[in-house]
Amino acid sequence: MSETEIALVTGANKGIGYEIAAGLGVLGYRVGVGVRVEARRESAVGKLRAAGVDAFGVPLDVTADRSVTDTAELVERRAGHLDVLVDNAGISGPPTDQGWAQYPTALDLDVVRTVVETNVIGVIRVTNAMLPLLRRSMSPRIVNVSSSVASLTRQADPDIEIGPVMAAYSPSKSFLNAVTVQYARQFADTDILINAACPGLVATDFTGFQEPRTPEQGAATAIRLATLPDGGPTGSFFEDDGVIPW
Ligand code: NAP
Repeated sequence: MSETEIALVTGANKGIGYEIAAGLGVLGYRVGVGVRVEARRESAVGKLRAAGVDAFGVPLDVTADRSVTDTAELVERRAGHLDVLVDNAGISGPPTDQGWAQYPTALDLDVVRTVVETNVIGVIRVTNAMLPLLRRSMSPRIVNVSSSVASLTRQADPDIEIGPVMAAYSPSKSFLNAVTVQYARQFADTDILINAACPGLVATDFTGFQEPRTPEQGAATAIRLATLPDGGPTGSFFEDDGVIPW
């Protein structure tokens, strides 16, 4: 790398986002650690710095216009450009009487709005705010952290075990994937590569730490897509084993 490459990771205080930030740091990126709560942000930045990462804190709530414009200004001041944006922040919606299941016939519409606001509109808000900085990079990369439960092909196949019905969360990630494809179409004549990544089933707060993969394992595909060589794939959806069908 010639000049220091700059990355911004949203929701980087814990779980998969933290490990994406740590992994990019190990690769030599200077990492903006996007976190909405100050104490969590300072703690994550402190841990990353102690691990040798050139990290700086970025106050960032992806659902708030002002926070996102402030983030763009902060990255502009601190770095002047952006090479990698990882849209990792995401929510599933609260558990219900049915546990993590979200049956479409009993959906709380406010939960749908909140989940889409974070998982989809938040990504568009952050991506568009960061675009002028990304356009100054020689090799801009955008990774949207999605989920294999976004795959309509897998959801529609009764032979595939894909967890509970989740009528707010799963479609929010399908929506995110669809938006990712539209960005890729618009960026077709540019150097910007944008892809969606599934981390697999990862033990984090998000899953009640009940899943088998470590956050570090969950971060691997996003890191790979964040560091794709020029001419690499764009407008696609990946997990560790390769492309996931839409
Ligand atoms: P996690 O440990 O719950 O972390 C989620 C992160 O998102 C936290 O840093 C959280 O910040 C942040 N966040 C939520 N809403 C935000 C907002 N409005 N603004 C800024 N940050 C916000 O979950 P995770 O498992 O690491 O999940 C990371 C991503 O992977 C999500 O997009 C999730 O959908 C996806 N994913 C996870 C799994 C899995 O098995 N874990 C599987 C497939 C996909 P706070 O700490 O402030 O809440």
